[in-house]
Amino acid sequence: MNKIKSFLRVISIFAVGFILFQSAAAQSRVDRILINEAKRITNDTFPVFSETPKGGRIYSVNQPDSKMLKAVDDGLAELFAIARKHKYRNRLNYSDYTIFIAKADRTKDNNGQYSPDIAVAAAQYAGSVYDQGGYIYAAGMVLANNPCAFVIAEHTKGFQRVADVVRYEGEHLVLYHNDRKLFNKTADHSQGGGHPVLR
Ligand SMILES: [Zn+2]
Repeated sequence: MNKIKSFLRVISIFAVGFILFQSAAAQSRVDRILINEAKRITNDTFPVFSETPKGGRIYSVNQPDSKMLKAVDDGLAELFAIARKHKYRNRLNYSDYTIFIAKADRTKDNNGQYSPDIAVAAAQYAGSVYDQGGYIYAAGMVLANNPCAFVIAEHTKGFQRVADVVRYEGEHLVLYHNDRKLFNKTADHSQGGGHPVLR
């Protein structure tokens, strides 16, 4: 009897250990896919993982400034508030979002305004007004719809812009999970239209 009891206890300990191990492994496998996609698009590496005060997940080229993390939360907070106004319910948790902070490929736009952006392959923007010769400068870009992930550029000031970009990139993801029709209509800016989509 005692033997069976202790045998069962060993099994349950193993089971718990196994479940923990499984979910940790599964999470890092998904994250590895996201990291590879972020690398492919930006040519950066993302060795630093952190969380925003409200639980947003961040991979970044450098240890992020606390003002940067706060701005991410502000952008998501605004996004979630607008989403709730539209009666959307899916993916309205901070931890649903993985945000990559890449090196800025430029810090000023064509008008000389502070505007840290990333250069990405032009793809469907080739030949459009956005095309800079095979690439475009983007404030942010969605990496994956499910799980929700996007990339933005590192800022050292002007953090309200970070909040805005987070809110705007997040719009695509909220729409993907709550209003597929509007998502399809607004996902590709080369066809015209921009942000905010939701007001
Ligand atoms: Zn967009």
